[in-house]
Amino acid sequence: MEKKRILIVEDEKPISDIIKFNLEKDGFLVNVAYDGEEGFELIMKWEPDLVLLDVMLPKLDGFEVLKRTREKNQVPILMVTAKEEEVDKVLGLELGADDYITKPFGMRELLARVKANIRRYDTADLKDSEEVPVKSYKNLEIDMNKYEIRKDGKPLELTLREFELLRYLAERENKVFSREQLLLEVWGYEYFGDVRTVDVTVRRLREKLENDPAEPTYVMTKRGIGYYFHNA
Ligand code: CA
Repeated sequence: MEKKRILIVEDEKPISDIIKFNLEKDGFLVNVAYDGEEGFELIMKWEPDLVLLDVMLPKLDGFEVLKRTREKNQVPILMVTAKEEEVDKVLGLELGADDYITKPFGMRELLARVKANIRRYDTADLKDSEEVPVKSYKNLEIDMNKYEIRKDGKPLELTLREFELLRYLAERENKVFSREQLLLEVWGYEYFGDVRTVDVTVRRLREKLENDPAEPTYVMTKRGIGYYFHNA
C-alpha cells in the first residue's frame, strides 16, 4: 500500500525533527514546512493525507492556515497548541480542525492521534461494513462507505470527524449516547480530550446539515444525557 503523507507545519526545528523521525520510523512519508505560508502552499501542492499544524507560526499563524485550507479542502488537520489554552482548542475546532494535541506530548500519544485522524478511504477498511452503504432521509443522503453526503442533492463538505460522528449516530438511529461515550467511540479510546469537542462538532454538523441549526431535525440533543440521530 502507498505510504500515507503527513505534513508537519512547525517552526521549531528540534520539535519537527523528532516528530518527523518518529513518523518515518512508523512508515509515513513526511514533509516539513517551517512557517505558515510555506505550510499552506505545501497543503495545496503536496496534498498530504494529514496535517500537523502548530498554532504559533511565523508569517501566517496556524488558525489562518486552517481557515484558508478549509476554504479549499477537508484534509484532516491536527492542531498543535503550545499550552493548555482553552480558547485555542475551541477556536481551532470551530474553524474546522479535526482534533488538537497539547505540547508537550509523548510520541505514543501523537502516533495514536495521527492514526485515529487519518482519512480511512482505503478499500481494506471498507469491507467489514455490512450496513447498507447509502442511507436516505428526508433531504439527506449519506454514503456511509465513501464519506459522501448530499443535502437536497448537493454534496456537503464535512471534516472526517464530523462525518464519523454523523455516521456513528445515524447507524444507531434514535439511540442516545452521552458525550463521553461519543468521545470514546468516535474519537478513539486513546483520546484524552474534553467533552466540549463533541459539542463543537455537533454544532458544526448542524450548521451544515440543518435548514435551521437552532431547530435541528437530525442530530438531536437529549437534555442532560447526550445526542442521538433522529429519523422521523
Ligand atoms: Ca511554533
